[in-house]
Amino acid sequence: MTLSRPLRSLFLYALSLTIFGTIANAQIKPGRDPNQAVDQEYTNKIREYTTAPYFNSPLTDYLPASSNVPTPKAVLGDVAGAPGKLPYAEDVYKYMRMLERASPRVKVFSIGTTEEGREMIAVAVASEQLISKLDENRARLTKLADPRSINLDEAEADRLVAASFPVYYITGTIHSPETGSPTALMELAYRLVVDDSPYVKSIRDNVMTLITPVVEVDGRNRMVDVYNWHLAHPNQNWPGLVYWGHYVAHDNNRDAIGLSLKLTRNVMNTYLSWKPQVLHDLHESVPYLYDNTIGDGPYNAWVDPILTDEWQMIGWNNVSEMTKFGMPGVFAHGNFDTWSPGYLMFIAATHNSISRLYETFGNGGADTLERTLSPSEYQRTWYRQNPPLPKAKWSQRNNNNYEQTALLTSLYYFGNNSKLFLKNFYLKSKRSIEKPKNEGPAAYVLPADDARNGNQAELLRTLQAQGVEISKATAPFTVAVKKKAASTSARSAASASPAASPTPVPKTEDRTFPAGSYIVRMDQPYSRIADALLDYQYWSPSDPQTDIYDDTAWTMGELANVEVVRVVDGKVLQAPMERVTGEVRAPGGVASSGSVYVVNHNADNALVTLRYRLKAIEMDAAEEPFEAAGRKFNRGSFIIRKANTDELQAVANELGIQVYAVADAPSVKTHPVRAARVAMMHTWLSTQDEGWYRVGLDQAQVPFAYISTQDVSRDPNLKSKYDVILFAPVGRGGQQIINGLPMYGNALPWKKTQLTPNLGGIDETDDMRPGLGWSGLENLQKFVKDGGLFITVDDTSDFAVQYGFTAGVNSSRSSRLKAVGAVLRTKTVDAASPIAYGYGDSLAMYCMNGPVYSINNGVGGRGGRPGPRATGRGTPDDPDVPQGRPPAEIPDPPAPVQPWEAPRVTDEQLRNAIGLIPPNQRPRVVLRYADSRDLFVSGLLDGGDEIAQRPAIIDVPSGNGHVLLFSTNPFWRGQTKGSYFLIFNAIMNWDNLNAGRKLADK
Ligand SMILES: [Zn+2]
Repeated sequence: MTLSRPLRSLFLYALSLTIFGTIANAQIKPGRDPNQAVDQEYTNKIREYTTAPYFNSPLTDYLPASSNVPTPKAVLGDVAGAPGKLPYAEDVYKYMRMLERASPRVKVFSIGTTEEGREMIAVAVASEQLISKLDENRARLTKLADPRSINLDEAEADRLVAASFPVYYITGTIHSPETGSPTALMELAYRLVVDDSPYVKSIRDNVMTLITPVVEVDGRNRMVDVYNWHLAHPNQNWPGLVYWGHYVAHDNNRDAIGLSLKLTRNVMNTYLSWKPQVLHDLHESVPYLYDNTIGDGPYNAWVDPILTDEWQMIGWNNVSEMTKFGMPGVFAHGNFDTWSPGYLMFIAATHNSISRLYETFGNGGADTLERTLSPSEYQRTWYRQNPPLPKAKWSQRNNNNYEQTALLTSLYYFGNNSKLFLKNFYLKSKRSIEKPKNEGPAAYVLPADDARNGNQAELLRTLQAQGVEISKATAPFTVAVKKKAASTSARSAASASPAASPTPVPKTEDRTFPAGSYIVRMDQPYSRIADALLDYQYWSPSDPQTDIYDDTAWTMGELANVEVVRVVDGKVLQAPMERVTGEVRAPGGVASSGSVYVVNHNADNALVTLRYRLKAIEMDAAEEPFEAAGRKFNRGSFIIRKANTDELQAVANELGIQVYAVADAPSVKTHPVRAARVAMMHTWLSTQDEGWYRVGLDQAQVPFAYISTQDVSRDPNLKSKYDVILFAPVGRGGQQIINGLPMYGNALPWKKTQLTPNLGGIDETDDMRPGLGWSGLENLQKFVKDGGLFITVDDTSDFAVQYGFTAGVNSSRSSRLKAVGAVLRTKTVDAASPIAYGYGDSLAMYCMNGPVYSINNGVGGRGGRPGPRATGRGTPDDPDVPQGRPPAEIPDPPAPVQPWEAPRVTDEQLRNAIGLIPPNQRPRVVLRYADSRDLFVSGLLDGGDEIAQRPAIIDVPSGNGHVLLFSTNPFWRGQTKGSYFLIFNAIMNWDNLNAGRKLADK
């Protein structure tokens, strides 16, 4: 049945109403128990801070009194959601621990620390009965989560379900400017402990509520600082929250694929050890409460349909209950597609539980404000029959009312139907184990003879951190795999969009994998996440969803530059193998003996770590491939003429690097490989995307100075301090990089003070407003002329081109191209460039509609490319012939140049060569985008011909230095580890980037 999107959703709505209509059994009236006293003072304040009665519900318009359990006022000095009150994470924890001391219904667990050492906690709240059975319940949930442990015995599963209670895990304020949830969760915990109304008692008796009140702890504390600064400076502008966590801002909710951030790891580990049935993440953006769990298509293709039905059931129940309370603006559906598995809540979706997310309404702090909405926000639509009000006074208390009411209705519904959801949890786990015999595949294989064992191990460690079991073949094995040649020609098409017609069934061929190959079996409980991450993505260019929410591709093997083979053949599960215990590590060490050491350059990220760890040792790079110790070594391979063997052995072993000792250094041209002095330059406009570069550099242990555009504006001698300046994407355009923020109004300090103890630390300034300025631009250009390397990516490359760093490069923005967070194929153009060391002839890279480059051998010229012939006599290949005279001899046309090449220098240009760039200063294209037919790797690609064959990475000599331009993004969300080394190569070869260059003779 094919329905249009709105019709399909209506159908699902009707279906879900039917489902929850039949299973919601108990008819308990929501609201207070008249026999329980209320805390009148607190209740009065709730009413005072709620801006209209309909912004509250019978569940939260009072606070039950307790003689021994403290209310949030004990820490806040006022009620939850009070104007002007934003508690630091530590205050929230202090309160949760007060609850723990006061009541056997609460237990607080430390779940790890942040990058900056702040604690993260999880608070369990339930009846003392449930709390006392926490461990035995966990043991049962662990069995339900792994049906292999009960031999998939349905009767035993039913017995476990009957004996178990579910865990509902709520996470607050991952996004720091979304400030309401910590106080809402403090008060929610209090209610769950104290309230004796039948409604809340039913929750307490049937559900273990687990709460992480602050997910982004570093960012929360910075946000509270900024808010306090704002309170202390009532009539001034306040600084924007330029840093949230230590590394990234809102992308902290895009880390569930790469698991680079501690907050993701901590929540993941909590998830894996508690086995909750729901992970519910709290956000604020649209009015007043949008349950975006249900979202919109396309749904992630790897989640279980049982889950997508559960989204509908719980979500629409939420809307229905709150509509009955008379609360306006509660809706589901909306425009959020649930394609990407990168969101924190998706940890649950990809691990057999239920992911949920609320967007509530917030004021970015605790001020009460008159809020005027846009028509798109307040208009009624089919999925928002009771829309928000066009204009209303809104308070943080309103937000807290909505968040708590919605959570309480969800918890109540979940508790009432706990057996259904526990059984579903079991079924989803079981269906994950049965993947090989149902939808497939049977396994993914990562061959032992991969050229990059280090990156392979790194990828497998990420899967292990996702809870995935890894096995290793103990002998060679042969299975049928998809035929390689067939796969490329099957999708070749004249257009640059991947073929939309159904692909013919691919032919298979036998392939033998060597012993030591890694096998990710799909008959395991967490096969779903491994399948989702290792598979390819296809987003149709004609998908009805045009408002794409995030990346369309994340194919981990391609982005790690590691071979991953999807195997449908069930025989693979019979291959001789053993489970890997402990972390996957690449083998390393020093083999054979000799006084000279050689290390093959395979673009494994560990190589740059080796360079910096052994900073004092001289290393050279071979400029040509060579053979030694009976093996082939790639261009760029390290040659170490003098080293302490023991030290080298220890580091190589630790980093998983194979070092070969030989008697003599191979006779090959070399240049030094440097542990360059690197600076990362950031703006005060946005640090979101550059944070992923810091993550990558820190993981690879590449030290760097962290400088701002303001530092650069004041430093005319940058080259004396740095060899390389890396300017990661900013997303604000060149003029803003120069100008900074407007200079109207007051200064915007970002620094550590008594009032703002959590600002600074990463970087500080007295005023965030000034930008790079013209002096900074001049200083940067001098840095390059003096011999420095300036690395730019995407929009900072636009900046470099626009402001004259790159003679001979034109950059434009695409008009038809749609490569929305897609994975595209690039081809190596100049394998002798040090940037390309260790890479093969092609590399899959992340692209977000990158700039379209062309290059030229002249400055200021329009770059004449020969056009098609003019109108005239004959066929398209014939010459025209003027009538009435003998035909003139036409000179041979210049050999055609490719889209990634510069048009050849003409005699006309040479006659007065003012704008002609000397051959050694001309742009050198290292990688280009593949031809149209090979460009698509994964995700959404439409209009790819616009960027096909264009330069992707250009090394532009300038004075004594170089500027390196990327159209692709090599460092993205910890997912693109296969392209990190393009930057590492640039860093280590910064003063020898001209190596291997062939110069034009004119
Ligand atoms: Zn958010």
